[in-house]
Amino acid sequence: MKGIDHIGIAVNSIDNALPLYTNIFQMSHVKTEMVESQKVKVAFINANNTKIELLEPISEDSTIQKFLNKKGEGIHHIAFKTEDIYGELENLERTGVQLIDKEPRIGAGGALVAFIHPKGTFGVLYELCQKQ
Ligand code: ZN
Repeated sequence: MKGIDHIGIAVNSIDNALPLYTNIFQMSHVKTEMVESQKVKVAFINANNTKIELLEPISEDSTIQKFLNKKGEGIHHIAFKTEDIYGELENLERTGVQLIDKEPRIGAGGALVAFIHPKGTFGVLYELCQKQ
């Protein structure tokens, strides 16, 4: 793993949450995009040496909506940078770490992403993220 690519934060409304980051924390809003495959709207914020990813559900059956219903707004996941997502997944699987995604899928920004199950990571939802 090559450090932290971003921190994912679940919010009810990006419009409501964004001014905290841009006006008060003085960070820049890079872009907002829809990730239809995960039924979320995603806003990227440049936090200098990492990024913050605000996640707003766009559907009732979005996993982010389920998270909000259960736990409320807050930190959803931490994403590690990798340059070899297939190798990392193979390694994790071989060592018995439970995965949510055995194969990478296309996430925000066209990156290859895969999630590790929090059961295997002491309660943290980790994402592996490889920029194309
Ligand atoms: Zn993420």
